[in-house]
Amino acid sequence: MTGTAPATEQAAASSGEQIKEIRAGVRALSARFPGEYWREKDRERAYPTEFVRALTEAGYLAALIPEEYGGSGLSLGAAAAILEEVQRSGGNGAACHAQMYIMGTILRHGSPAQKRAYLPKIATGELRLQAFGVTEPTAGTDTSSISTTAIRKGDVYIVNGQKVWTSRAEHSDLMLLLARTTPRDKARSKTEGLSVFVVDMRAALGKGLTIRPIRTMLNHATTEVFFDDMAVPAANLIGEEGRGFRYILDGMNAERILIAAECLGDARWFIDKASAYAKSRVVFGRPIGQNQGIQFPIARAYAASEAAALMIDKAAGLFEHGQPCGAEANMAKMLASEASWQAADMCLQTHGGFGFAEEFDIERKFRETRLYQVAPISTNLILAYIAEHVLGLPRSY
Ligand SMILES: Cc1cc2nc3c(=O)[nH]c(=O)nc-3n(C[C@H](O)[C@H](O)[C@H](O)COP(=O)(O)OP(=O)(O)OC[C@H]3O[C@@H](n4cnc5c(N)ncnc54)[C@H](O)[C@@H]3O)c2cc1C
Repeated sequence: MTGTAPATEQAAASSGEQIKEIRAGVRALSARFPGEYWREKDRERAYPTEFVRALTEAGYLAALIPEEYGGSGLSLGAAAAILEEVQRSGGNGAACHAQMYIMGTILRHGSPAQKRAYLPKIATGELRLQAFGVTEPTAGTDTSSISTTAIRKGDVYIVNGQKVWTSRAEHSDLMLLLARTTPRDKARSKTEGLSVFVVDMRAALGKGLTIRPIRTMLNHATTEVFFDDMAVPAANLIGEEGRGFRYILDGMNAERILIAAECLGDARWFIDKASAYAKSRVVFGRPIGQNQGIQFPIARAYAASEAAALMIDKAAGLFEHGQPCGAEANMAKMLASEASWQAADMCLQTHGGFGFAEEFDIERKFRETRLYQVAPISTNLILAYIAEHVLGLPRSY
């Protein structure tokens, strides 16, 4: 999390004009997928295939793939703007946001042959790399304790174990998988001996790979995944065996910044919605927004979201210049997820009873944005990071 962005990811900062155009483009695309679309998907817990296809075809999900591999070669700030606008338009980028950043592990640590094989197809959407298998039921946040194993047998690794919360596994062709290749007691340290693989789920399904959906309070297409003697070609190992933990950490800053941008989009959607309603809803013969009891929470949520926006800009700017940005990326994610939740609560309250009606979309986005204080990293773990790495306090876990 303290690492710098590698050369391949140091795309020049996209120009202000370019980002403005991207924002307008994403808004226009999102307008084709209004509240009714997302409501129906939410009700059915169905995957927004049409939306993901449209975003892919427009090239937005390939924002961070360099042009030499068929992507758009945009900066992280531009990618963040794309996800922010999806959320600000009332949509849910969680259906596909991982396609934007999981490929970073292949880009940074894959062999030239792996990059050529995967990245151009990920850029066009021919290959969906949406699934990220890290979390396990018994390890939780303590990733170094995972117990899924990958044992080398000739030309293949045999994988056994289980993942949980592997989102979008049913809507992905590939999964980036973290597994233990050296037992923890034989590894030099607890973070050594873990390796990363690209698993072709199309080939493995029914041959050692089982996917079971988990129904949750939000429409997130998340699953648990079981590996029972699943064979993965040794050629699908990314980088060096045993160094996977480091490879996964390398991708965390980009992920944190992009998720923060999604939270910012949510916060801005809630604030827009609440402001509009507060101006038009008349009770006791005047707009409710004329009461300070209604105004102040909206103003407070606005201030919190603007502060988070500054931290996102700072983190993205550092990342784009290849500077260390672990603290800023973590703070951006924490501040933005808190701002979006504050705005969600305020928006619900501003709408009174109507906030609970499905057709207003508030209760849906309220459920959706709550996730980000837990995943992909919980607030406590960010606070522990700041305490230890920025303030020099003793490590607490
Ligand atoms: C909808 C959803 C989608 C997800 N998608 C993915 C995915 O695609 N791929 C993937 O790999 N994972 C995914 N996750 C998993 C997610 O990253 C984890 O849920 C998250 O990191 C927290 O881990 P945990 O649930 O095991 O909580 P735990 O680690 O069990 O922690 C429980 C609580 O205890 C707190 N806690 C734990 N240790 C400490 C400590 N030392 N100090 C203070 N507090 C502590 C945590 O902050 C948390 O609030 C997803 C989760 C959800 C809910």
